[in-house]
Amino acid sequence: MNDERRRAAIRVIESLEKEGFEAYLVGGCVRDYVLKKTPQDYDVATSARPEQVEAIFAHTVPTGIKHGTVTVLQDQTSVEVTTFRIESDYQDHRRPGRVKFVSSLKQDLARRDFTINAMAQDRHGRIYDYFSGIEDLNDKKVRTVGNPVERFHEDPLRMVRAARFVAQFDFELDKQTELALLKCKQQCVYLSVERVTAELEKMWKARRASKGIGILFTCGLIYSLPPFNNWKIQDVPGPDQLAPMDWTDDRIIRWAYLLFCCGVSSDNAQSRLREFRLSNTDIAAITSCFRLGAEWKSLTETTAKRLLLTEGLTNVLKASGLAKLLRRLPADVFLDKQLQKWWDEMPVTQVRELDISGKELVEHCQQPAGPWVKKTLAYLLEKVALGQLPNQKNVLLKEGCYFGANHSQ
Ligand code: ATP
Ligand code: MG
Repeated sequence: MNDERRRAAIRVIESLEKEGFEAYLVGGCVRDYVLKKTPQDYDVATSARPEQVEAIFAHTVPTGIKHGTVTVLQDQTSVEVTTFRIESDYQDHRRPGRVKFVSSLKQDLARRDFTINAMAQDRHGRIYDYFSGIEDLNDKKVRTVGNPVERFHEDPLRMVRAARFVAQFDFELDKQTELALLKCKQQCVYLSVERVTAELEKMWKARRASKGIGILFTCGLIYSLPPFNNWKIQDVPGPDQLAPMDWTDDRIIRWAYLLFCCGVSSDNAQSRLREFRLSNTDIAAITSCFRLGAEWKSLTETTAKRLLLTEGLTNVLKASGLAKLLRRLPADVFLDKQLQKWWDEMPVTQVRELDISGKELVEHCQQPAGPWVKKTLAYLLEKVALGQLPNQKNVLLKEGCYFGANHSQ
Protein backbone atom coordinates (compact mmCIF):
# COMPACT_ATOMS: atom_id res chain seq x y z
CA MET A 1 0.00 0.00 0.00
CA ASN A 2 2.93 2.26 0.56
CA ASP A 3 3.58 2.41 -3.13
CA GLU A 4 5.60 5.00 -5.03
CA ARG A 5 2.52 6.84 -6.26
CA ARG A 6 1.20 7.25 -2.75
CA ARG A 7 4.54 8.63 -1.61
CA ALA A 8 4.51 11.08 -4.54
CA ALA A 9 1.01 12.24 -3.61
CA ILE A 10 2.07 12.74 0.02
CA ARG A 11 5.03 14.81 -1.18
CA VAL A 12 2.64 16.99 -3.20
CA ILE A 13 0.54 17.48 -0.05
CA GLU A 14 3.66 18.44 1.95
CA SER A 15 4.63 21.07 -0.63
CA LEU A 16 1.12 22.57 -0.58
CA GLU A 17 1.03 22.64 3.22
CA LYS A 18 4.46 24.30 3.32
CA GLU A 19 2.94 27.18 1.36
CA GLY A 20 0.12 27.47 3.89
CA PHE A 21 -2.60 25.55 2.03
CA GLU A 22 -4.67 22.60 3.16
CA ALA A 23 -4.35 19.41 1.12
CA TYR A 24 -5.68 15.86 1.45
CA LEU A 25 -5.93 12.61 -0.42
CA VAL A 26 -9.55 12.22 -1.51
CA GLY A 27 -12.03 9.95 -3.25
CA GLY A 28 -11.20 6.50 -4.61
CA CYS A 29 -7.70 6.30 -3.15
CA VAL A 30 -8.96 6.78 0.42
CA ARG A 31 -11.73 4.22 -0.12
CA ASP A 32 -9.19 1.76 -1.53
CA TYR A 33 -6.82 2.45 1.38
CA VAL A 34 -9.54 1.43 3.84
CA LEU A 35 -10.33 -1.64 1.71
CA LYS A 36 -6.60 -2.46 1.54
CA LYS A 37 -6.72 -2.41 -2.26
CA THR A 38 -4.33 -0.73 -4.69
CA PRO A 39 -5.91 2.47 -6.06
CA GLN A 40 -6.11 3.27 -9.77
CA ASP A 41 -4.78 6.76 -9.13
CA TYR A 42 -4.26 9.30 -6.37
CA ASP A 43 -6.32 12.47 -6.20
CA VAL A 44 -5.49 15.40 -3.97
CA ALA A 45 -7.96 18.13 -2.93
CA THR A 46 -6.57 21.45 -1.78
CA SER A 47 -7.54 24.93 -0.66
CA ALA A 48 -5.01 26.36 -3.17
CA ARG A 49 -6.42 27.81 -6.39
CA PRO A 50 -5.27 26.24 -9.67
CA GLU A 51 -2.92 29.13 -10.46
CA GLN A 52 -1.39 28.81 -6.99
CA VAL A 53 -0.86 25.09 -7.54
CA GLU A 54 0.86 25.87 -10.85
CA ALA A 55 3.11 28.38 -9.14
CA ILE A 56 4.24 25.93 -6.45
CA PHE A 57 5.27 23.00 -8.67
CA ALA A 58 7.87 22.96 -11.41
CA HIS A 59 6.04 20.50 -13.67
CA THR A 60 2.29 20.82 -14.11
CA VAL A 61 -0.29 20.19 -16.81
CA PRO A 62 -3.52 22.25 -16.82
CA THR A 63 -5.74 19.15 -17.24
CA GLY A 64 -9.03 20.74 -16.25
CA ILE A 65 -8.28 24.26 -15.12
CA LYS A 66 -11.92 25.31 -15.53
CA HIS A 67 -12.93 22.64 -13.04
CA GLY A 68 -9.98 23.39 -10.80
CA THR A 69 -7.78 20.44 -11.73
CA VAL A 70 -4.04 20.64 -12.32
CA THR A 71 -1.94 17.53 -12.87
CA VAL A 72 1.33 17.70 -10.95
CA LEU A 73 4.20 15.59 -12.24
CA GLN A 74 6.10 14.44 -9.20
CA ASP A 75 8.75 11.69 -8.94
CA GLN A 76 7.92 10.10 -12.32
CA THR A 77 4.22 9.85 -11.52
CA SER A 78 1.30 12.22 -11.88
CA VAL A 79 -1.06 13.42 -9.17
CA GLU A 80 -4.34 15.19 -9.92
CA VAL A 81 -4.68 18.21 -7.68
CA THR A 82 -8.14 19.80 -7.54
CA THR A 83 -9.19 22.91 -5.68
CA PHE A 84 -11.98 22.40 -3.09
CA ARG A 85 -15.11 23.04 -5.08
CA ILE A 86 -18.82 22.58 -5.33
CA GLU A 87 -20.71 22.12 -8.54
CA SER A 88 -23.57 24.32 -9.54
CA ASP A 89 -25.76 24.97 -12.47
CA TYR A 90 -26.63 21.44 -13.56
CA GLN A 91 -28.00 22.14 -17.01
CA ASP A 92 -30.35 19.54 -18.46
CA HIS A 93 -29.08 16.95 -16.00
CA ARG A 94 -25.73 17.01 -17.71
CA ARG A 95 -22.34 17.76 -16.29
CA PRO A 96 -22.28 20.86 -14.11
CA GLY A 97 -21.97 23.99 -16.19
CA ARG A 98 -19.96 25.83 -13.59
CA VAL A 99 -17.97 25.01 -10.51
CA LYS A 100 -17.52 27.23 -7.52
CA PHE A 101 -14.37 27.09 -5.47
CA VAL A 102 -15.00 26.82 -1.74
CA SER A 103 -12.80 26.99 1.30
CA SER A 104 -13.72 23.89 3.25
CA LEU A 105 -12.85 20.26 2.79
CA LYS A 106 -16.25 19.22 4.10
CA GLN A 107 -18.08 21.11 1.36
CA ASP A 108 -15.85 19.49 -1.25
CA LEU A 109 -16.57 16.04 0.14
CA ALA A 110 -20.31 16.73 0.26
CA ARG A 111 -20.53 17.16 -3.51
CA ARG A 112 -19.10 13.69 -4.12
CA ASP A 113 -21.37 10.87 -5.23
CA PHE A 114 -21.25 8.11 -2.62
CA THR A 115 -20.28 8.01 1.04
CA ILE A 116 -17.54 5.47 0.29
CA ASN A 117 -16.04 7.98 -2.19
CA ALA A 118 -16.45 11.00 0.07
CA MET A 119 -13.62 10.51 2.54
CA ALA A 120 -10.34 12.36 2.82
CA GLN A 121 -7.03 11.44 4.41
CA ASP A 122 -4.27 13.74 5.58
CA ARG A 123 -0.58 13.02 5.16
CA HIS A 124 -0.36 11.50 8.64
CA GLY A 125 -2.96 8.90 7.69
CA ARG A 126 -5.87 10.45 9.59
CA ILE A 127 -9.19 9.86 7.84
CA TYR A 128 -11.94 12.52 7.58
CA ASP A 129 -15.23 10.71 7.25
CA TYR A 130 -18.13 13.17 7.59
CA PHE A 131 -20.72 10.95 5.87
CA SER A 132 -20.13 7.52 7.44
CA GLY A 133 -18.18 6.14 4.50
CA ILE A 134 -16.30 3.66 6.69
CA GLU A 135 -19.52 2.33 8.15
CA ASP A 136 -20.90 1.82 4.64
CA LEU A 137 -17.70 0.11 3.56
CA ASN A 138 -18.08 -2.27 6.50
CA ASP A 139 -21.75 -2.83 5.66
CA LYS A 140 -20.87 -3.20 1.96
CA LYS A 141 -23.36 -0.50 0.98
CA VAL A 142 -23.37 2.00 -1.87
CA ARG A 143 -25.22 5.05 -0.54
CA THR A 144 -25.36 8.57 -1.94
CA VAL A 145 -24.10 11.52 0.06
CA GLY A 146 -27.30 13.37 0.93
CA ASN A 147 -30.71 12.92 -0.66
CA PRO A 148 -30.39 10.27 -3.40
CA VAL A 149 -33.24 11.65 -5.52
CA GLU A 150 -31.60 15.08 -5.62
CA ARG A 151 -28.16 13.65 -6.26
CA PHE A 152 -29.39 11.46 -9.15
CA HIS A 153 -31.33 14.36 -10.55
CA GLU A 154 -28.20 16.54 -10.54
CA ASP A 155 -26.21 13.95 -12.45
CA PRO A 156 -27.93 10.75 -13.65
CA LEU A 157 -24.58 9.13 -14.39
CA ARG A 158 -24.40 8.53 -10.64
CA MET A 159 -27.05 5.82 -11.08
CA VAL A 160 -24.79 3.93 -13.50
CA ARG A 161 -21.83 4.57 -11.19
CA ALA A 162 -23.81 3.11 -8.28
CA ALA A 163 -24.25 -0.10 -10.30
CA ARG A 164 -20.55 -0.01 -11.17
CA PHE A 165 -19.39 0.29 -7.55
CA VAL A 166 -21.71 -2.57 -6.56
CA ALA A 167 -19.98 -4.63 -9.27
CA GLN A 168 -16.48 -3.47 -8.35
CA PHE A 169 -16.70 -4.35 -4.66
CA ASP A 170 -19.52 -6.90 -4.63
CA PHE A 171 -21.60 -4.51 -2.50
CA GLU A 172 -25.35 -3.88 -2.39
CA LEU A 173 -27.33 -0.72 -3.01
CA ASP A 174 -28.57 1.01 0.13
CA LYS A 175 -32.38 0.76 0.24
CA GLN A 176 -33.09 4.50 -0.12
CA THR A 177 -30.52 4.76 -2.88
CA GLU A 178 -32.18 1.87 -4.71
CA LEU A 179 -35.65 3.39 -4.37
CA ALA A 180 -34.32 6.69 -5.72
CA LEU A 181 -32.78 4.88 -8.61
CA LEU A 182 -36.14 3.33 -9.50
CA LYS A 183 -37.71 6.76 -9.26
CA CYS A 184 -35.09 8.63 -11.28
CA LYS A 185 -34.13 6.03 -13.89
CA GLN A 186 -35.77 7.92 -16.74
CA GLN A 187 -33.36 10.81 -16.20
CA CYS A 188 -30.70 8.63 -17.82
CA VAL A 189 -31.96 9.65 -21.27
CA TYR A 190 -30.04 12.91 -20.81
CA LEU A 191 -26.65 11.20 -20.53
CA SER A 192 -24.09 11.29 -23.31
CA VAL A 193 -23.06 7.96 -24.78
CA GLU A 194 -19.40 8.74 -24.07
CA ARG A 195 -19.99 8.92 -20.32
CA VAL A 196 -22.02 5.69 -20.39
CA THR A 197 -19.32 3.89 -22.38
CA ALA A 198 -16.63 5.07 -19.94
CA GLU A 199 -18.59 3.63 -17.01
CA LEU A 200 -19.20 0.34 -18.87
CA GLU A 201 -15.46 0.07 -19.49
CA LYS A 202 -14.94 0.43 -15.73
CA MET A 203 -17.66 -2.17 -15.22
CA TRP A 204 -15.62 -4.64 -17.32
CA LYS A 205 -12.77 -4.27 -14.85
CA ALA A 206 -15.08 -5.14 -11.98
CA ARG A 207 -15.06 -8.56 -10.36
CA ARG A 208 -18.87 -8.88 -10.34
CA ALA A 209 -19.73 -7.18 -13.61
CA SER A 210 -22.85 -9.37 -13.80
CA LYS A 211 -24.16 -7.76 -10.62
CA GLY A 212 -23.76 -4.24 -12.00
CA ILE A 213 -25.32 -5.10 -15.36
CA GLY A 214 -28.07 -6.91 -13.43
CA ILE A 215 -28.93 -3.62 -11.67
CA LEU A 216 -29.11 -1.80 -15.01
CA PHE A 217 -31.70 -4.36 -16.13
CA THR A 218 -33.70 -5.02 -12.97
CA CYS A 219 -33.97 -1.37 -11.97
CA GLY A 220 -34.87 -0.54 -15.57
CA LEU A 221 -32.03 1.95 -16.12
CA ILE A 222 -31.07 0.27 -19.37
CA TYR A 223 -34.35 1.21 -21.04
CA SER A 224 -33.53 4.90 -20.64
CA LEU A 225 -29.79 4.71 -21.03
CA PRO A 226 -28.23 5.75 -24.36
CA PRO A 227 -27.60 3.92 -26.62
CA PHE A 228 -29.63 0.96 -25.23
CA ASN A 229 -32.77 3.08 -25.03
CA ASN A 230 -33.50 2.80 -28.73
CA TRP A 231 -32.78 -0.92 -29.00
CA LYS A 232 -36.24 -2.10 -27.97
CA ILE A 233 -34.81 -4.74 -25.63
CA GLN A 234 -37.47 -7.43 -25.09
CA ASP A 235 -36.31 -9.89 -22.46
CA VAL A 236 -34.76 -9.08 -19.13
CA PRO A 237 -31.93 -11.55 -18.51
CA GLY A 238 -32.10 -13.12 -15.07
CA PRO A 239 -29.15 -13.53 -12.68
CA ASP A 240 -28.48 -17.02 -14.10
CA GLN A 241 -28.10 -15.67 -17.60
CA LEU A 242 -25.87 -12.81 -16.47
CA ALA A 243 -23.67 -14.83 -14.11
CA PRO A 244 -21.31 -16.23 -16.81
CA MET A 245 -20.13 -12.67 -17.46
CA ASP A 246 -18.00 -13.04 -14.33
CA TRP A 247 -16.24 -16.15 -15.63
CA THR A 248 -13.94 -13.97 -17.71
CA ASP A 249 -12.13 -10.70 -17.11
CA ASP A 250 -11.70 -10.03 -20.82
CA ARG A 251 -13.38 -6.78 -21.83
CA ILE A 252 -13.92 -7.86 -25.45
CA ILE A 253 -15.73 -11.02 -24.36
CA ARG A 254 -17.73 -9.07 -21.77
CA TRP A 255 -18.85 -6.54 -24.39
CA ALA A 256 -19.89 -9.39 -26.69
CA TYR A 257 -21.75 -11.14 -23.88
CA LEU A 258 -23.61 -7.93 -23.05
CA LEU A 259 -24.81 -7.69 -26.66
CA PHE A 260 -26.01 -11.25 -26.41
CA CYS A 261 -27.93 -10.50 -23.20
CA CYS A 262 -29.57 -7.56 -24.95
CA GLY A 263 -30.82 -9.86 -27.72
CA VAL A 264 -28.63 -8.34 -30.45
CA SER A 265 -28.20 -10.50 -33.57
CA SER A 266 -24.91 -11.17 -35.38
CA ASP A 267 -26.08 -8.99 -38.25
CA ASN A 268 -26.68 -6.01 -35.97
CA ALA A 269 -23.67 -6.38 -33.69
CA GLN A 270 -21.39 -4.04 -35.58
CA SER A 271 -23.85 -1.17 -35.93
CA ARG A 272 -24.90 -1.53 -32.28
CA LEU A 273 -21.27 -1.34 -31.19
CA ARG A 274 -20.70 1.80 -33.26
CA GLU A 275 -23.34 3.51 -31.14
CA PHE A 276 -21.00 3.29 -28.14
CA ARG A 277 -18.35 5.27 -30.07
CA LEU A 278 -15.78 2.56 -29.47
CA SER A 279 -12.60 2.52 -31.56
CA ASN A 280 -12.66 0.70 -34.90
CA THR A 281 -10.20 -1.87 -33.54
CA ASP A 282 -12.49 -2.64 -30.61
CA ILE A 283 -15.57 -2.79 -32.83
CA ALA A 284 -13.84 -5.28 -35.16
CA ALA A 285 -12.63 -7.45 -32.26
CA ILE A 286 -15.99 -7.53 -30.47
CA THR A 287 -17.95 -8.14 -33.69
CA SER A 288 -15.69 -11.05 -34.62
CA CYS A 289 -15.92 -12.50 -31.10
CA PHE A 290 -19.71 -12.18 -31.15
CA ARG A 291 -20.19 -13.60 -34.64
CA LEU A 292 -17.94 -16.64 -34.16
CA GLY A 293 -18.71 -17.25 -30.50
CA ALA A 294 -22.48 -17.07 -30.74
CA GLU A 295 -22.49 -19.53 -33.63
CA TRP A 296 -19.61 -21.69 -32.48
CA LYS A 297 -19.24 -24.89 -34.47
CA SER A 298 -17.16 -27.89 -33.51
CA LEU A 299 -13.80 -27.83 -35.25
CA THR A 300 -11.63 -30.38 -36.96
CA GLU A 301 -7.93 -29.66 -37.44
CA THR A 302 -8.52 -28.41 -40.98
CA THR A 303 -11.58 -26.26 -40.24
CA ALA A 304 -9.80 -24.83 -37.19
CA LYS A 305 -6.73 -23.92 -39.20
CA ARG A 306 -8.90 -22.31 -41.91
CA LEU A 307 -10.67 -20.29 -39.23
CA LEU A 308 -7.36 -19.28 -37.65
CA LEU A 309 -6.10 -18.08 -41.03
CA THR A 310 -9.10 -15.88 -41.76
CA GLU A 311 -9.71 -14.57 -38.22
CA GLY A 312 -6.32 -14.71 -36.48
CA LEU A 313 -5.51 -16.54 -33.24
CA THR A 314 -6.55 -13.72 -30.90
CA ASN A 315 -10.04 -13.44 -32.39
CA VAL A 316 -10.61 -17.19 -32.37
CA LEU A 317 -9.51 -17.47 -28.73
CA LYS A 318 -11.87 -14.65 -27.74
CA ALA A 319 -14.68 -16.35 -29.66
CA SER A 320 -14.04 -19.66 -27.90
CA GLY A 321 -14.13 -17.70 -24.62
CA LEU A 322 -17.58 -16.37 -25.51
CA ALA A 323 -18.75 -19.81 -26.67
CA LYS A 324 -17.85 -21.13 -23.21
CA LEU A 325 -19.93 -18.45 -21.49
CA LEU A 326 -22.81 -19.34 -23.80
CA ARG A 327 -22.25 -23.01 -22.97
CA ARG A 328 -21.73 -23.82 -26.63
CA LEU A 329 -18.38 -25.25 -25.58
CA PRO A 330 -17.34 -27.06 -22.41
CA ALA A 331 -15.53 -24.80 -19.99
CA ASP A 332 -12.17 -26.59 -20.14
CA VAL A 333 -8.97 -25.04 -21.47
CA PHE A 334 -8.08 -27.95 -23.72
CA LEU A 335 -9.37 -26.31 -26.90
CA ASP A 336 -7.38 -23.11 -26.31
CA LYS A 337 -4.16 -25.11 -26.01
CA GLN A 338 -5.07 -27.06 -29.12
CA LEU A 339 -5.79 -23.85 -31.06
CA GLN A 340 -2.46 -22.42 -29.99
CA LYS A 341 -0.72 -25.65 -31.09
CA TRP A 342 -2.42 -25.62 -34.49
CA TRP A 343 -1.51 -21.96 -34.92
CA ASP A 344 2.15 -22.64 -34.05
CA GLU A 345 2.25 -25.63 -36.39
CA MET A 346 1.32 -23.64 -39.48
CA PRO A 347 4.45 -22.62 -41.42
CA VAL A 348 2.78 -19.34 -42.51
CA THR A 349 -0.26 -17.48 -41.17
CA GLN A 350 -0.22 -14.30 -43.26
CA VAL A 351 -0.08 -13.52 -46.98
CA ARG A 352 3.04 -11.42 -46.55
CA GLU A 353 4.92 -14.49 -45.36
CA LEU A 354 4.38 -16.21 -48.72
CA ASP A 355 7.36 -16.45 -51.04
CA ILE A 356 5.49 -14.47 -53.72
CA SER A 357 3.77 -11.09 -53.89
CA GLY A 358 0.64 -10.04 -55.76
CA LYS A 359 2.83 -8.06 -58.16
CA GLU A 360 4.91 -11.11 -59.04
CA LEU A 361 1.74 -13.11 -59.57
CA VAL A 362 0.30 -10.51 -61.99
CA GLU A 363 3.57 -10.33 -63.96
CA HIS A 364 4.10 -14.06 -64.15
CA CYS A 365 0.52 -15.02 -65.02
CA GLN A 366 0.20 -12.26 -67.66
CA GLN A 367 -3.29 -11.54 -66.45
CA PRO A 368 -4.38 -7.95 -65.58
CA ALA A 369 -4.59 -7.20 -61.87
CA GLY A 370 -8.05 -7.62 -60.35
CA PRO A 371 -9.90 -9.27 -57.49
CA TRP A 372 -8.47 -12.65 -58.56
CA VAL A 373 -5.08 -11.68 -57.07
CA LYS A 374 -6.38 -11.41 -53.52
CA LYS A 375 -8.39 -14.61 -53.93
CA THR A 376 -5.39 -16.46 -55.30
CA LEU A 377 -3.11 -15.32 -52.49
CA ALA A 378 -5.68 -16.42 -49.90
CA TYR A 379 -5.89 -19.80 -51.62
CA LEU A 380 -2.10 -20.18 -51.67
CA LEU A 381 -1.86 -19.12 -48.03
CA GLU A 382 -4.26 -21.86 -47.05
CA LYS A 383 -2.40 -24.47 -49.12
CA VAL A 384 0.98 -23.57 -47.61
CA ALA A 385 -0.41 -23.21 -44.08
CA LEU A 386 -2.07 -26.63 -44.26
CA GLY A 387 1.16 -28.17 -45.53
CA GLN A 388 -0.28 -28.98 -48.97
CA LEU A 389 2.24 -26.83 -50.86
CA PRO A 390 5.82 -25.80 -50.03
CA ASN A 391 6.48 -22.08 -49.59
CA GLN A 392 8.59 -21.85 -52.75
CA LYS A 393 8.30 -19.15 -55.36
CA ASN A 394 8.28 -21.38 -58.48
CA VAL A 395 5.68 -23.75 -57.02
CA LEU A 396 3.43 -20.89 -55.84
CA LEU A 397 3.61 -19.07 -59.20
CA LYS A 398 2.64 -22.19 -61.09
CA GLU A 399 -0.23 -23.13 -58.79
CA GLY A 400 -1.28 -19.48 -58.49
CA CYS A 401 -1.57 -18.95 -62.24
CA TYR A 402 -3.54 -22.13 -62.64
CA PHE A 403 -5.93 -21.13 -59.84
CA GLY A 404 -6.07 -17.50 -61.03
CA ALA A 405 -7.01 -18.50 -64.58
CA ASN A 406 -10.03 -20.37 -63.22
CA HIS A 407 -11.04 -17.65 -60.78
CA SER A 408 -10.50 -14.53 -62.83
CA GLN A 409 -14.05 -13.23 -62.35
P1 ATP B 1 -11.83 4.21 -9.59
O1 ATP B 1 -11.08 3.49 -8.54
O2 ATP B 1 -12.59 3.28 -10.46
O3 ATP B 1 -11.06 5.24 -10.36
P2 ATP B 1 -12.97 6.47 -8.28
O4 ATP B 1 -13.77 6.53 -7.01
O5 ATP B 1 -11.61 7.05 -8.23
O6 ATP B 1 -12.97 4.99 -8.77
P3 ATP B 1 -13.49 8.29 -10.40
O7 ATP B 1 -14.50 8.20 -11.49
O8 ATP B 1 -12.05 8.22 -10.77
O9 ATP B 1 -13.85 7.18 -9.36
O10 ATP B 1 -13.78 9.65 -9.61
C1 ATP B 1 -12.96 10.14 -8.57
C2 ATP B 1 -13.81 10.73 -7.42
O11 ATP B 1 -14.54 11.86 -7.90
C3 ATP B 1 -14.85 9.77 -6.87
O12 ATP B 1 -14.31 8.95 -5.85
C4 ATP B 1 -15.93 10.71 -6.37
O13 ATP B 1 -15.57 11.22 -5.10
C5 ATP B 1 -15.86 11.86 -7.36
N1 ATP B 1 -16.80 11.73 -8.49
C6 ATP B 1 -16.54 11.20 -9.71
N2 ATP B 1 -17.61 11.27 -10.52
C7 ATP B 1 -18.58 11.85 -9.81
C8 ATP B 1 -19.93 12.23 -10.08
N3 ATP B 1 -20.48 11.98 -11.27
N4 ATP B 1 -20.62 12.84 -9.10
C9 ATP B 1 -20.06 13.12 -7.90
N5 ATP B 1 -18.80 12.79 -7.57
C10 ATP B 1 -18.06 12.17 -8.51
MG1 MG C 1 -10.28 7.25 -9.94
